[in-house]
Amino acid sequence: KKNNQPNISQDVLFEFGSIINGKEHRSGDWLEVFNPFTKQQVGRVASINVEVLEQTIRKTHDTKLTLSRYERNGILNKMADVLEDSVEEVSRLITHESGLSLKDTKYEASRVADVLRFSAMKAFDDDSEVFPCDISRNGRNRRIYTSRHPLPLIAAITPFNHPMNQVVHKIAPAIATNNTVILKPSEKTPLSAYYLAKVALECGLPPNALNVVNGPVQQTANHLVKHDLVSLVSFTGSSQIGKLIAGNAGYKKLILELGGSSALLVLGDADIDEAVSITISGTFKNSAQRCTAIRRVLVQEEIADVFSARLANEVAKIKYGNPYDPSMDMGTVINESAAIEIENRVNASIAAGAQLLIGNERDGALYSPTVLDHMKNHYPVAAEETFGPVAPIIRFKTLDEAISIANDTPYGLSGGIVSNHWPSIQKVISALETGTVNVNEAPSYRLEWTPFGGIKDSGLGYKEGVIETMKGYTYMKTYSLPWD
Ligand code: NAD
Repeated sequence: KKNNQPNISQDVLFEFGSIINGKEHRSGDWLEVFNPFTKQQVGRVASINVEVLEQTIRKTHDTKLTLSRYERNGILNKMADVLEDSVEEVSRLITHESGLSLKDTKYEASRVADVLRFSAMKAFDDDSEVFPCDISRNGRNRRIYTSRHPLPLIAAITPFNHPMNQVVHKIAPAIATNNTVILKPSEKTPLSAYYLAKVALECGLPPNALNVVNGPVQQTANHLVKHDLVSLVSFTGSSQIGKLIAGNAGYKKLILELGGSSALLVLGDADIDEAVSITISGTFKNSAQRCTAIRRVLVQEEIADVFSARLANEVAKIKYGNPYDPSMDMGTVINESAAIEIENRVNASIAAGAQLLIGNERDGALYSPTVLDHMKNHYPVAAEETFGPVAPIIRFKTLDEAISIANDTPYGLSGGIVSNHWPSIQKVISALETGTVNVNEAPSYRLEWTPFGGIKDSGLGYKEGVIETMKGYTYMKTYSLPWD
């Protein structure tokens, strides 16, 4: 089984096609992929043109899948087996195209297997409901039933930051619900999407259940988003592009998982060591390229001096550098221009009044873990989503002030609180304008099947996570039967 997988155990230049009708399509036009640390080309993927995409859309739309729940469960579990057996190779492939450390990409590979296992489990579930009708004077002796059915065609568009996990969150729930998908992965990280699609085919997914297309945005993503035969666009990426898609999509269902600016509220009663450790894992994992990463650390005045000193001390211990070195905690961000943008915003925030405690060193796409104290919400690092390893400390006096700072952002994805004071915890859970609030845990904490997603500029309120995605990927039909 594994012999048929792409060989990713050696450092070769990967050359992958787009995947159409179960086969590789190579057009002769290529998108090149570079490792952000070495700056070397690590691979290339074949682009497709609009004519080929148009045919693919029609054929995928006309493909009706009839796999039994047993078969869908089997495919998904087989895929999970392959992923679990290949964690080393998969993590290396993700590191190749993203510059993320092997520690981060091994974790990602294991999350991918979780998504597949949970989708396999949920493929067995039938969440149909039954409504008796003889419950009012207008009722009759009937029962109304619900059932779920796949949509004709889903277009999925994914970002670079978790190259394989974002992709599996789009395709595993589709396999579980007999949906057909055309996936356009990030042009920065298309290699792991190809790998996962090949695994799906090897494990028995029929041709045209999943097609993977690469190419310039205009002739791929944009064409998909506007196409009348696409019934749902499922997009994960920046708020800016998400809003563009909302404008272009027309009469379609939309699932948008967009940017974030999570606040962690550290209250005066918090265990400072616990708060520091949550801040470190919640900020710097995955080179801080997570939509739910802590972007603002709100600390109550009376403990702020001690907290900031301890945080800087612990951040100094984070090992960052060559992502292929297994001892490294953190690799690069996605490319040098992203690192320069982070550096510029940090410098502008320092010029505005923030104090640099540690970090702000850049070498190409490597940007060192950075802590800024005495930040304000309107300084550049916090005012926009800064997608990199910076922990900005904003000091506050009262809980109400902290809540209003936390909510003073266009985003509404996640938040967290570190405290053991129940009334304050309860108030924060109720008052934060976010899709998630975690108590004594980082804002990013979730399981792959629990509901996940934001409000405001972070999303339209529809959730992902395996269970909710399966609902989003299906329409509900009601039917009624006579029932004495
Ligand atoms: P991005 O928005 O730049 O790109 C995402 C995808 O959209 C890519 O595949 C890209 O090719 C495609 N795209 C670009 N222009 C398009 C257009 N006009 N029409 C259709 N598609 C288009 O995002 P990115 O830089 O790859 O990823 C980082 C962003 O993703 C951050 O903002 C992060 O917060 C967000 N994100 C959100 C979640 C979530 O679940 N809420 C998860 C991960 C990442």
